[in-house]
Amino acid sequence: MKKRKVFFLTILLVIGLSVFGGDTSKDIYVFIRVDDLFMLNTDIQPQEMDAFLDVAEKHGARTILATIPRRLIQKPNQNGKMAEQIRDYRRRGHQIAQHGYDHRCPFTGRSDHDLYTPDIDGYTREERFEKIRKGRMMLEAATGKKVVSYVAPGGDSLYMPEKDVQKLYRMGFIDVPSADTAEDGSEFSYGLCPRGLDYTWAITDKDFEERLERAKKDFLAAAETRTEWSFLFHDHFTRKAYNDGIVLKWFDEFLSWLNSLEEYNVKYVTFEEYYRKFNPEFSISFD
Ligand SMILES: [Zn+2]
Repeated sequence: MKKRKVFFLTILLVIGLSVFGGDTSKDIYVFIRVDDLFMLNTDIQPQEMDAFLDVAEKHGARTILATIPRRLIQKPNQNGKMAEQIRDYRRRGHQIAQHGYDHRCPFTGRSDHDLYTPDIDGYTREERFEKIRKGRMMLEAATGKKVVSYVAPGGDSLYMPEKDVQKLYRMGFIDVPSADTAEDGSEFSYGLCPRGLDYTWAITDKDFEERLERAKKDFLAAAETRTEWSFLFHDHFTRKAYNDGIVLKWFDEFLSWLNSLEEYNVKYVTFEEYYRKFNPEFSISFD
């Protein structure tokens, strides 16, 4: 065969491979969320998540940090430490999201809901939105950046009526569409965040492997039909001092596994990055 002919055949083969063959892995967008920054009622100290974020960054991942605004005027922010920490996390590329206002209902004293109280008369609608606005301003003042995601604490996401979800959207909180949207369905996804499971809550050496396997199984099942997956942590367990850094080890192993998958191309995104990517026409400024 003439040299030129071989050359052209090679070029054709290369083009053919890049179009039809080559990388056939499916893109899956993965959201990593940490809730409850900074948890008050815990003896796991010091209050920090630097080591956890180091693990994320080592694997090319960014996280979404659902932060309770009221902590900024409470003990965790002594000497402005908490404000300094979340400013630093934001600088490192992680997203600061708003997690209610206080994560505690003053009418029931319970922490599994915040602004919405089932069965009794709690806040009025105006008071709720006043708290949300106030909390948002506090977070924005601390981070120097617009807060565009609202993660409803605990049961609030269940009690929040559709019209309030829509009001949040009109206030400039972005909608992250999710395959996990409740079946009765809001076009403004429920709680404004994809749901995800927490595999490391109170994790011990005993159930470490079992929880790792469960997360892998859940991911693979979801990835078959979806292009998004979300999983969750809670602040106090991500601290290095919790059980000798067991969550850091779990997180490291799980991300190594995700990144090693050949059939899936895992892309870690914050809600904000994801929204910008698919809604370039969105008019509010993110900065
Ligand atoms: Zn929470």
